[in-house]
Amino acid sequence: MVKLNVELGDRSYPIYITSDFSGLPKAVQGARLSGKAMVITDSNVCSHYLSMCTEQLEESGLEVHSHVIEAGEKSKNLDTVKEIYRLLMSERFERNSALIALGGGVVGDITGFAAATYVRGISYVQIPTSLLAQADSSIGGKTGVDFEGSKNLVGAFYQPRFVYINVNTLRTLPVRELSSGLAEVIKHGLIMNAEFYDYIDSNMSKIFNYDESTLQYMTKMNCTIKKSVVEQDEREGGLREILNFGHTFGHAVESASDFSLLHGECVSIGIAGAFKMALRLGMISSETAAAVENTLKSAALPVRIKGMDTQKIYDNMLHDKKAKNGRLSFILPREIGDAVSCVVDNEQLIKQVIEELKE
Ligand code: NAD
Ligand code: ZN
Repeated sequence: MVKLNVELGDRSYPIYITSDFSGLPKAVQGARLSGKAMVITDSNVCSHYLSMCTEQLEESGLEVHSHVIEAGEKSKNLDTVKEIYRLLMSERFERNSALIALGGGVVGDITGFAAATYVRGISYVQIPTSLLAQADSSIGGKTGVDFEGSKNLVGAFYQPRFVYINVNTLRTLPVRELSSGLAEVIKHGLIMNAEFYDYIDSNMSKIFNYDESTLQYMTKMNCTIKKSVVEQDEREGGLREILNFGHTFGHAVESASDFSLLHGECVSIGIAGAFKMALRLGMISSETAAAVENTLKSAALPVRIKGMDTQKIYDNMLHDKKAKNGRLSFILPREIGDAVSCVVDNEQLIKQVIEELKE
């Protein structure tokens, strides 16, 4: 078992990286959780892991309840949160009770938000089971739900008490979801650590074969990178913005696709877009841009968009909640392992890059 610590003063917490659930009782004791806990999971994850986790959590002395939500982004709304509040009320959950998110980023974001708001905040734990959640969403305390078509419009920064990652849960994850998560993993290497990028690039087949030590190392590096950014900028005042690499184009493509593409697939296209823009601005070489596209393709990720309107994608970028006063900022690569935030207000350049991303 690997243990990392997210250092955020009195909101600090450990991340455990393991290959089964047997360390859960100790993790619960370490966080001094006791009394009632409610596991929130989804309709796909529950049949694989709910009973296994419940058993371990009960071993730690918790009174364990559970609630299964329908799998998918469409559940990420206030109605689902209300349902959780109702259950917590009827089971008499109090300030010292806890919520446990067992699932992907959807379950994690909903559970974190419910925990942040129920009786002004109860403890919660992340047990992420998708690669996206293990590499990204379970760490850093961003919680929230979608509202009237706007993704993550309502939310809170609220840190978990611990994160418990069993890398073997990836074995049951649909392979398209595994690829999608890899976009965030590749992103981490590209923005912060060239060696890690090379490692992922050369170990792609081991990842797809669920090689345990490769998955453990990959997860350890992901968590180390993500936590270091969060530690320096918990509430996204500056540095944390760098994690949005690939996301300016990515989010715009995601909405233009009406969410038929997975988040990581859009990020992959967005990364290709960031490299194309950096190339046009003379920041990197065409060889580097081509090599990165090859890495993304080897993770079975798309790097081109099909049948989307350039103007629509551009408009989506302007309407993104991260655009400031109509000015678009992009995180652009300076070299592999290093990226910088740039404001680009050249509409023509942006549209040219979108055109180049089309098949
Ligand atoms: P998800 O939670 O919908 O999971 C993807 C699919 O895989 C779902 O169908 C789920 O049921 C299934 N699944 C998950 N783990 C499984 C397993 N081990 N075995 C079998 N099936 C499994 O989506 P996601 O990609 O994990 O997360 C996306 C969400 O995360 C989005 O809502 C996004 O906004 C959010 N997100 C949040 C942050 C953050 O910092 N909070 C960061 C990035 C993304
Ligand atoms: Zn993302």
